[in-house]
Amino acid sequence: MDLFEYQARDLFEQHDVPVLRGIVATSSTQARTAAEKLGTPVVVVKAQVKTGGRGKAGGVKIAHSPEEAEATADDILGLNIKGHTVRKVMVAEGADIAEEYYFSILLDRTKRKYLAMLSKEGGVDIEKLAEERPEALVKKTFSPLDGMTDTFARELATEAGFSAEEAKALVSVFKKLYEVYTEEDATLVEVNPLVKTTGGDIIALDGKISLDSNASFRHPEHKDLADHGATDPLELKATNLGLNYVKLDGSVGVIGNGAGLVMSTLDVVAYAGEQFASNPKPANFLDIGGGANAEVMANGLSVILGDNQVKSVFVNVFGGITACDEVAKGIVQAFKILSSEGIEPKPLVVRLDGNNAEQGREILTQADLPQLEQVDTMDAAARRAAELADQHS
Ligand code: GDP
Ligand code: MN
Repeated sequence: MDLFEYQARDLFEQHDVPVLRGIVATSSTQARTAAEKLGTPVVVVKAQVKTGGRGKAGGVKIAHSPEEAEATADDILGLNIKGHTVRKVMVAEGADIAEEYYFSILLDRTKRKYLAMLSKEGGVDIEKLAEERPEALVKKTFSPLDGMTDTFARELATEAGFSAEEAKALVSVFKKLYEVYTEEDATLVEVNPLVKTTGGDIIALDGKISLDSNASFRHPEHKDLADHGATDPLELKATNLGLNYVKLDGSVGVIGNGAGLVMSTLDVVAYAGEQFASNPKPANFLDIGGGANAEVMANGLSVILGDNQVKSVFVNVFGGITACDEVAKGIVQAFKILSSEGIEPKPLVVRLDGNNAEQGREILTQADLPQLEQVDTMDAAARRAAELADQHS
């Protein structure tokens, strides 16, 4: 999960990383009040969108009075920055910048280590710098077992061209940022710019944090950081139902048991879809897991049928520990639940294989459910589901 700049600023502050005060505003009037509250001669109004390059897109502006902050916020709110609409701004204290640096910590999966990056030439042109003069961006890996030691942090600074004196001040900031990285279970902590003010202080002026959602169970407090406004409503519904669902762009809904089976089902559906004029593609990933009882099946179907783009559904089950007759009973009950909720079925192709497949198929045949077809093999079932989606497109 990527955080907004103001959320990163808050986490930095909690870990004693030096930051400037900042207040979030969702209207220009609020921005004015925020500037009054900060009371500094200069404030910066910053678009809160989860993308970089806000400065260049006109999303970061300096204001010299609360009135100017209000007018500036009015300009920035509603801006479209690389496809992200600005709904919030942060009004922050202005900094007197002497120098802008770049610093980040991320996960290097290939090396199974952490990677720290540092440059003396940070700021809005860091991508260009990395491309044109990569030697000006120092990259150094370190072991999670060692962590960010004083020695490592000092070496990093020296290699990036900082003097021993400058390195001293940076080391303590790097260590605090590393604390954010580990204690918050982040996969990325980036500060650009990390500035030196004319007064000689080091301050994290813009922060980017990605949190590892696999570690969210360790951080109940991170729940509040989720941006529900931006989450797809179907994904939100699925999350609330405890389903493993990812919305995709196609027209064939997919349900399967086991992540691996569902992944390969997506491939097979995409391949089968190529034979049809409208080129139907998978509409989602949905793994109902091992249990696959009626409630889970009904929940899964209701999420998928709630997607207007869906024209057909492919239920692909390979019975292992879960027997196919249980799954078939689940499908039958799911239809009852859905019809009691007034949810219209769509063409549904079911392929049952593995443990008790025969019994499962028999149950579905007997139930004679509307718009449900059974196909014995995965390839043929995918083809049929794609064909139905094509016919209804
Ligand atoms: P980004 O473009 O999305 O990375 O937004 P940043 O927050 O990094 O801001 C872009 C640039 O605006 C920075 O590199 C600074 O040069 C400038 N900037 C941001 N905040 C301040 C501030 O408080 N004072 C001054 N003088 N410049 C600022
Ligand atoms: Mn920046």
